[in-house]
Amino acid sequence: MSIKNNIIEIKNRINEACKKVNRDPNEITLIAVSKTMTNEDIIEAASFGMTNFGENKVQELSTKYNEINNPSLKWHQIGHLQRNKVKYIIDKVELIHSVDSIKLASKINDEALKRNITANILIQVNIANEETKFGISRNEAHHIIREIDKMSQINIKGLMTIAPYVENSEINRIHFRTLKDLHVDISSKNKDNIFKVKNSFDILSMGMTNDYEVAIEEGANMIRIGTGIFGVRE
Ligand SMILES: *Cc1c(COP(=O)(O)O)cnc(C)c1O
Repeated sequence: MSIKNNIIEIKNRINEACKKVNRDPNEITLIAVSKTMTNEDIIEAASFGMTNFGENKVQELSTKYNEINNPSLKWHQIGHLQRNKVKYIIDKVELIHSVDSIKLASKINDEALKRNITANILIQVNIANEETKFGISRNEAHHIIREIDKMSQINIKGLMTIAPYVENSEINRIHFRTLKDLHVDISSKNKDNIFKVKNSFDILSMGMTNDYEVAIEEGANMIRIGTGIFGVRE
């Protein structure tokens, strides 16, 4: 399969998943996860209409950003972010998906302030409470989001999760649904007397190659696909 055909196939499957639950496919932002892929791969995917690219390593994102040097591409930091590396990507990324502590957010806020910019972030939730995964727990979400939302240079745009790796994507449905519920709580303040964040809080980043259709059925509006677009990573 070529990158072009893979993108066509994924778009078809997004359309099918949306049809199933009466959603508009235009609501779904497809992020091409290009970690370990070459500049040529990225440029090829861009030539078939991809504009959003996700990377999990700061160094790799930064290098590709500089080398490809295409201002119409949007870069997403989707992997764990160390505080001492925030400075390398803060002015390059559209969205940081992986904010998992008040301390990290505070560092992002400081670096954004220095540059007089606003940082768009998602809060990563470890929805299945996996020991091996980063992310805050659901129980601490309200407290942490409330604290981070006070930071002047940060817009919390929504939530992100990495669901467990499973063969059968149905197993992750409950996790996607749980994150969606949390997202609704915080975005519409309609339950449990929960506060509302200061900016639009409308992004729900969940679903990868193995489970994105289920994620869409459960309300994802940003999906992160690597293998499905570029093939298996080395
Ligand atoms: C690698 C990665 C993906 C994409 O995974 P695939 O299974 O290849 O689609 C999505 N999100 C994050 C955070 C990743 O690190």
